[in-house]
Amino acid sequence: MQKVAIVGASLAGLAAARALRGQSFTGEIIAIGAERHHPYDRPPLSKDFLTGACTVDDLALSDDEDLGIDWRLGTAATRLDPRRRSIHLADGQEIQVDGVIVATGARARRPAHADGLAGVHTLRTLDDALTLRDELRTTGRLVVIGAGFIGAEVASSARSLGWDVTVVEGLPTPLAGPLGPEMGALCAQLHADHGVRLKTGTPVSALLGSDRIEAVELADGVRLPADLVVAGIGAIPNVEWLDGSGLTVDGGVVTDAAGATGLPTVVATGDCAVSFSPFAGRAVRSEHWTHALDHPATAVATLLGATAPDTGKAPYFWSDQYGVRLQFAGHREPGDTVRIVEGDPEQRSFLAVYERGGHPVAVLGMNQPRLFTRWRRQLRAVPQEA
Ligand code: FAD
Repeated sequence: MQKVAIVGASLAGLAAARALRGQSFTGEIIAIGAERHHPYDRPPLSKDFLTGACTVDDLALSDDEDLGIDWRLGTAATRLDPRRRSIHLADGQEIQVDGVIVATGARARRPAHADGLAGVHTLRTLDDALTLRDELRTTGRLVVIGAGFIGAEVASSARSLGWDVTVVEGLPTPLAGPLGPEMGALCAQLHADHGVRLKTGTPVSALLGSDRIEAVELADGVRLPADLVVAGIGAIPNVEWLDGSGLTVDGGVVTDAAGATGLPTVVATGDCAVSFSPFAGRAVRSEHWTHALDHPATAVATLLGATAPDTGKAPYFWSDQYGVRLQFAGHREPGDTVRIVEGDPEQRSFLAVYERGGHPVAVLGMNQPRLFTRWRRQLRAVPQEA
């Protein structure tokens, strides 16, 4: 293999380039990125970057001159043609390659009826964050739609800047999916303790305003006046460009655990890929920073026909909200039990373990990094019942 294209120039794409060189690939690497920026770190975008505690320069993932990458930035791949072994770009170029690493990640889901309405934002890219940071320079009434990680972090950042913040969430608690209702309730308390109003259980029905957002209407008829809206309602994998390529796409590019697709010269990794998780017992799209950092080495080994490193680590993510670090590893399913094994939620410092059939399947830490790491290491996938 002489020429490899990495499509998607973000964390997984950069990690793939590092892995190619680390695994002695001496051929040509072309990195194609829809964004105009070199790879940068997304987690600070909802945290220190919004509050002004870090700058654009602080986000840079690295100076990768020595990787010898041919960067093609600011132009998206529009088509993969496996028969001709080529990739078509939006600017009209067609690039012939021997191997392809798909690392096109995901984009933020936009709320319905937001088009043409100023003051309604999503947050996925540096450009999104620059625009939102500008809007946050004044203060006013912010409505955050969705109490997931991005929504909670934006609420926390905006509150620290003096905004009057309301978070609306259709489910009964924040983070009900990943953390479950008991731990979700503790996250709800975090919002309340910092003067953020949280409205749960009622979905948004409309965004009101003529040119600019004026209010958010809920399904029960309540209208929340808003000068600014940020929606954190999930992400959609960037896979449309693969239509007609012959790859299987089902909520992401379908791969095995080592990143292999149905085409021997194409692998996929990071937020765009769906693969079987022994922890979840089904195929999932992992949307976590650590996965996008670690998994590309496995996908690269698969592409190069080498032995793939172990992929058996428990999924892991963290979130910083209101000065609290949340860390979660493993996978929770409805019906799992959860108990606090150390610390005190009142003190914002505890460790909780989720169990299924007596096995620990997931662990949540709030400001308990050491204890969390110890428990995280012990997590093993629970054998699935036949
Ligand atoms: P992405 O980072 O989505 O990058 C994909 C890249 O591919 C993008 O640059 C995109 O423009 C490009 N692309 C898309 N389509 C094409 C195309 N057709 N052609 C060329 N290029 C294309 N995770 C945590 O674990 N903890 C956190 O605290 C945390 N905080 C986060 C905060 C924010 C605001 C966001 C947005 C994410 C956060 N994450 C966090 C998630 C983490 O950042 C992602 O899991 C990670 O960025 C995924 O990396 P990726 O390279 O797979 O995809």
